[in-house]
Amino acid sequence: MAKGLWVYVEQSNMKIRKASLEIMSKAREIADQAGDEVVAVLLGQGVEALANEVIPYGANKVIVVDDAQLEKYTTGTYTSVISKLIREYEPQAFLLGHSALGRDLAPRLAQRLRVCMADDCIAMEYDPTTYLTFKRPIYTGRAFAQVKLTSRPIIATIRPNTFNVSEPDNNCQAEIIKRNAQIEAADLRAIVKDIVLATSKRPDLVEANVIVSGGRGVKSAQGFGVLEELADAVGGAVGASRAAVDAGWIDIKYQIGQTGNAVSPTLYIACGISGAIQHVAGMNSSKIIVAINKDPEANIFKYADYGIVGDLFEVVPLLTEEFKKLGS
Ligand code: FAD
Repeated sequence: MAKGLWVYVEQSNMKIRKASLEIMSKAREIADQAGDEVVAVLLGQGVEALANEVIPYGANKVIVVDDAQLEKYTTGTYTSVISKLIREYEPQAFLLGHSALGRDLAPRLAQRLRVCMADDCIAMEYDPTTYLTFKRPIYTGRAFAQVKLTSRPIIATIRPNTFNVSEPDNNCQAEIIKRNAQIEAADLRAIVKDIVLATSKRPDLVEANVIVSGGRGVKSAQGFGVLEELADAVGGAVGASRAAVDAGWIDIKYQIGQTGNAVSPTLYIACGISGAIQHVAGMNSSKIIVAINKDPEANIFKYADYGIVGDLFEVVPLLTEEFKKLGS
């Protein structure tokens, strides 16, 4: 019988992603309800040292696959290694963050294992009949579906910032299981030679607690300067609508929405964004939404907790000044 709630622990440059710890924390809560165990799954090169970092978040076991061929993520190698582990251990569920990696890996695993999956989930609870129940946006965020999967393992990606990270408990103990990668030639269809990381002192967009986002109303690449100042004053990230990206004012990796990133920060400040459904789809699970728009009829105000009708070039610098005074 299937057993265990598996969490894929994503790391970047030997730093565990916050989204993975959020899922670990929630998985621990669910495993306690279900009388089950939480298993952290770590892949990469030199990642063994990270096992001790995830144990305090509630792992009963950590499966470590440490191999030079796993140093850089590729769909083929990771799908092969994880699907073999899943076939062997038969967990109830395999959960990943809805990051670039999670969005790539989860469907490939589901296909390889011939099981169903739920992606971009914004809630997950224990269900005594199907083990887990998820909530996820459908129809570009116009509605939400409750999803229960009956195939095993359940595969799901969870939007970052959906759950809180629990307090680490350094008394937790876990079994560390080391496994070999057993990568075959057929798994190496793509070889990643190098990864060039963008250098930014701002937090990662999908994991940021605060996002200051700009749209066509920002008017130019230089216009994003006022948004960057506000983001820096609050320790946040900068995001954008597709209109701003299409205009070439900001890189596509900052796009939020249906065809961009899905984000769930504590505070989302939308500046000069009209609130098209395709944009809203990527940010309407934010905890608090502030909209700044000079059009009082703008659609974004329907989703905003706080709305400011005004010119962003006047309002945003005032906000920056106030936040700087607060020293936040
Ligand atoms: P606009 O709709 O032009 O709005 C600009 C706003 O700025 C207006 O409300 C205006 O009143 C305000 N404004 C202007 N000047 C100022 C000022 N000085 N101060 C304050 N306010 C000002 N869009 C996304 O964002 N993300 C997606 O992922 C995405 N995916 C899409 C997928 C598909 C298949 C399609 C068809 C569309 C998609 N879009 C997406 C595009 C989407 O439909 C909208 O066109 C886009 O979101 C509009 O961006 P915007 O709000 O910045 O621009």
